Amino acid sequence: MATSLPCAEQQELARPATMPLQTRDSNGPLLSNIAYAERQISTPSRDQYTLGWIAALPLELAAAIAMLDHRHEKPPDFAQSSSDKNSYTWGRIGDHNIVISSLAAGVYGKVSAATTAMQMLSSFPHIRVGLMVGIGAAVPRPEQGRDIRLGDIIVSQPDGQSGGVVQYDLGKAKEGEDFQRKGILNMPPEALLKALANLQAQHEIQPSIVPDLLKDMIKRHPHMARSKPGKPGYVYQGRENDRLFNALYPHAGGFECNNCNSEEMIAREDRDSDEPEIHYGVIASGDMLVKDATIRDRIIQNAGDECICLEMEAAGLMNGFPCLVVRGVCDYADSHKNDRWQRYAAAVAAAYAKEFLVILPGEEVEKSEKAAEIVGRLDHS
Ligand SMILES: [Zn+2]
Repeated sequence: MATSLPCAEQQELARPATMPLQTRDSNGPLLSNIAYAERQISTPSRDQYTLGWIAALPLELAAAIAMLDHRHEKPPDFAQSSSDKNSYTWGRIGDHNIVISSLAAGVYGKVSAATTAMQMLSSFPHIRVGLMVGIGAAVPRPEQGRDIRLGDIIVSQPDGQSGGVVQYDLGKAKEGEDFQRKGILNMPPEALLKALANLQAQHEIQPSIVPDLLKDMIKRHPHMARSKPGKPGYVYQGRENDRLFNALYPHAGGFECNNCNSEEMIAREDRDSDEPEIHYGVIASGDMLVKDATIRDRIIQNAGDECICLEMEAAGLMNGFPCLVVRGVCDYADSHKNDRWQRYAAAVAAAYAKEFLVILPGEEVEKSEKAAEIVGRLDHS
């Protein structure tokens, strides 16, 4: 069930929502109009943006923006070329000046992702590393101990065989599509993989700060917690709304799974917390929106049983935008899938990306090769 905040708390939290993010300076307090001109001067220049963040859906873009420590104005020296159709948001998390873009509304999939990335790298040539952050489907195998739930986080990680993303429909790729000429998809840059190892080690010692970041996001943007009919908020949606059915049992129709037979549900161990778990592994990426458990399982059979996630954009990026892929789990790619968990899943993915960026040292990014140069080399190899 989507939560709604108690009335008093809503009033308490409502105030920050009226403060546009653009009016905060680097220390958080509001700026007066007098200070505004000063802040304009300190806006980073185009070439100080070294990290690109790509979202696919508008709700993923919203989660990304809501996670920024500070939102920036357009860089004063940035003039968007007419060939660049992206729409950008600029801001800062930790050490990093970040440029965010989402795919054109209603146009998804790897080609759209590749085009967005290409235009971003051409407009911001100093970008060195990237993040693809959004929602995806989990491929759970509870009987094998792979217990992934809705609202969990999946992060691409190379496994020796792949760079962390497998393109499952490469054989069907159409001619003329960029970034899929190579059969082997690239690995994320070393700076990202080092930070990933550090974050994994940190999580052995202390818990992830994702739950705190989610609470902070709602505190700063209480509107995001609100549910409207057919539009649940960016908050946890309840265990009772997370149902994993046997692959051979199709959705019975009707609203969500109200008509589906609960005896066909796969029993899973109770968790002692509803906070997101983080899973590292290989992501299977292709253009098909999968809504059928038998098709899902066939794809995984071909792509490799180590794949823990299905999504639609990453395969368009790995060779054109060296990046880490972070996915919040919104469904199981079966006929029971619905949109209920999408906003919360987008929020958990963005929160993980933020935790990751806080641990990623700015100087490591600065030392990395420019993404556009890596791509240029791949294109000519
Ligand atoms: Zn169902």
